[in-house]
Amino acid sequence: MKERLEQLRKEALEHIEGAKDLKEIQQIRITYLGKKGPITDILRGMKNLAPEERPKIGALANEVRETITEKIEKKWKELEQAAIQRKLAEESIDVTLPGRKMTVGNRHPLTRVIEEVEDLFIGLGYTVAEGPEVETDYYNFEALNIPKDHPARDMQDSFYITNDLLMRTQTSPVQARTMEKAKGKGPIKIICPGKTFRRDNDDATHSHQFMQIEGLVVDENIRMSDLYGTLEYFAKKIFGNDRQIRLRPSFFPFTEPSLEMDISCKICGGKGCHVCKGSGWIEILGAGMVHPNVLRMNGFDPEKYSGFAFGVGVERIAMLKYGIDDIRHFYTNDVRFLHQFFQKD
Ligand SMILES: [Zn+2]
Repeated sequence: MKERLEQLRKEALEHIEGAKDLKEIQQIRITYLGKKGPITDILRGMKNLAPEERPKIGALANEVRETITEKIEKKWKELEQAAIQRKLAEESIDVTLPGRKMTVGNRHPLTRVIEEVEDLFIGLGYTVAEGPEVETDYYNFEALNIPKDHPARDMQDSFYITNDLLMRTQTSPVQARTMEKAKGKGPIKIICPGKTFRRDNDDATHSHQFMQIEGLVVDENIRMSDLYGTLEYFAKKIFGNDRQIRLRPSFFPFTEPSLEMDISCKICGGKGCHVCKGSGWIEILGAGMVHPNVLRMNGFDPEKYSGFAFGVGVERIAMLKYGIDDIRHFYTNDVRFLHQFFQKD
């Protein structure tokens, strides 16, 4: 019995030493230490031994089992380390290869302008309102004091889906929807940025799809001077403190009185050049005091409430701000154009 145990120990240790991978070690463990293995077998056969032999053989059997267990664990660790090293070696990076360039995107110039204007007005206590791009004739025209036969509709021909549904020609329907929801109770202070559509032939300054940001304030005692202050603040924040503003009387069906705002030309400082077509001024936006009819139609009492509204083209701001000469650049998404705005972020 003693010889058999010694023989087992020798044999097992040789096997362990020769094992080449973890799978083999696992097999050796089962063979020698498993429930059906030779050591278990010997321990089970102890009852057949002479009583004085039992403790000696028992102790030896345990010792052999411990030695084999230890060796297996040691070898297991060695093989495991070797496997990791091999894997690392296989997956090593050749640092002499040139790196692959990661292209990082940047915000579209129109998005940047919208965010800048939004930030500015949020700072003045406005909220941002949005509405559907497919509108009803009512919200797009009638609620804004442009009845069916009004000549102003000629300038805003659009894409009609049905007789009553169209792609909105302005973001003003959001103003009408907001006033209607307020149910005649002020104050309202919103800006509405968004896409608008008109049937237009695309050229350097016209596009059938473009973006607007409109603003609306309705409250008691809102005066023309409030509009003036707001527009001047907007112009100087967006285009620079050195710019002058000029208001000219104009006409829009939904405001009375109506005006257009110009800013002094940055290129010539007001002397006149090809950019401002010799006038020294550049047209920026339309605005005015909300027409009493519009207030009334949208549930506000014009005797109690007054307000102002303004609308500006996002493309126009971006073109002036970044010196872009063709509106179509915004939509063709040529990365050579878009990447020029990368540094400015
Ligand atoms: Zn000029």
